[in-house]
Amino acid sequence: MEKSQPCDCCESALIYNNEYPEYINIKATNDELIKRCNAGKMHVIRGDCPLEMMLSLLEADTVYTIVQFLHCNVCGKTIFWGLCIRGDPIFKIVERYEVEQWRWTDKSKYWIK
Ligand SMILES: [Zn+2]
Repeated sequence: MEKSQPCDCCESALIYNNEYPEYINIKATNDELIKRCNAGKMHVIRGDCPLEMMLSLLEADTVYTIVQFLHCNVCGKTIFWGLCIRGDPIFKIVERYEVEQWRWTDKSKYWIK
């Protein structure tokens, strides 16, 4: 598949808010990503926490950013999914090397179990 072609798997996981279409629906998008991972269509390359904990960690307000890098097994793209307690969520296609360049810090002590 051409890199520039929208992918039905990873790119369709991005869900916008019905009432405010300029805003990403965080929960719906996260749920779609979880579904694709559970179905084996995508997998997490590296993330601050398990995907299932993204929203509870955001709501806990203990970390500034929570990010995931996911690989799409259908098109091979790398997806960046980032939540920020003081900003808008980010869902974008990135290059694989950006996973290594990200300034990772251990946030496991903030995980809500
Ligand atoms: Zn894809």
